[in-house]
Amino acid sequence: MATFGTLSDRLTETFRNLRTKGKLTPADVDGTVREIRRALLDADVALPVVKEFTAKVRERALGDEVNKALNPAQQVVQIVNEELIAILGGQQRRLQFAKNPPTIIMLAGLQGSGKTTFAGKLAKMLEKEGHTPLLVAADLQRPNAVNQLQVVAGQAGAAIYAPQPGNGVGDPVQVARDGVEVARRHQHDVVIIDTAGRLGVDAELMKQAADIRRATDPDEVLFVIDAMIGQDAVNTAKAFQEGVDFTGVVLSKLDGDARGGAALSVASVTGRPIIYASTGEGLDDLEPFHPDRMASRILD
Ligand code: GDP
Repeated sequence: MATFGTLSDRLTETFRNLRTKGKLTPADVDGTVREIRRALLDADVALPVVKEFTAKVRERALGDEVNKALNPAQQVVQIVNEELIAILGGQQRRLQFAKNPPTIIMLAGLQGSGKTTFAGKLAKMLEKEGHTPLLVAADLQRPNAVNQLQVVAGQAGAAIYAPQPGNGVGDPVQVARDGVEVARRHQHDVVIIDTAGRLGVDAELMKQAADIRRATDPDEVLFVIDAMIGQDAVNTAKAFQEGVDFTGVVLSKLDGDARGGAALSVASVTGRPIIYASTGEGLDDLEPFHPDRMASRILD
């Protein structure tokens, strides 16, 4: 995954220097922690997350578990690995299905974050698992959004509920509600509701998303975030958490070559798990997110 290439290289370099040492002095530990801190900040990881992370690593690296270890340097790498897994959310969290179908999944995020593409990817993945998803086009803000979801649904071979063209702008909350009703009638066991996104966080958009949430009572509200948006990730995530209280995060464009570290901050700052990683424009480019595998990739 290119996104973490630079961060990964920097950490590897830091640990290479450490490996030449036998016992670690407090100065060695401090030097290492300082380098980790710089690498994370340069990768756009949010400052509070970096601070907490490095404080934990330092405390543990100066503690007994390292002093008594046969190979102290390796022990430090192990600690960094464990703490990375922790900021990425710890355990893998799977998509949660309703006890009584349909499972309702609402998507939220900025325009261009990859929401519509993700809707198609998720529909395709769920179909492969034997589900019968219905996509619902409740993004009526952008003229082309409904059409775009229709194209994606076609590619994914998934059913779609969309407002009829020519009926005016329409009410996205009603469309979402109707979509859930259609799913019930036609026995779709999952409903994926695409909602409008704007270029920046905006009060009207957030109210609309909150109204759709209230009207459909989703089992999951997934916040889709472009892994390449840098430091803005944290503020955007906080605004969406306040606005729609999302239940999980989808990191998109993890295949990009930007610094990507901001993505590392989102789970930690919001306390919401990352459930999927989106890794390309193709509909098959979607993976369930595993904090431990991601940490290994970063430290590889
Ligand atoms: P939306 O406005 O949030 O619905 O975003 P879209 O789904 O339309 O995606 C915006 C652009 O990002 C499109 O050109 C997509 O092809 C592209 N895109 C979406 N997901 C990914 C991804 O995981 N990787 C890459 N490289 N591009 C993506």
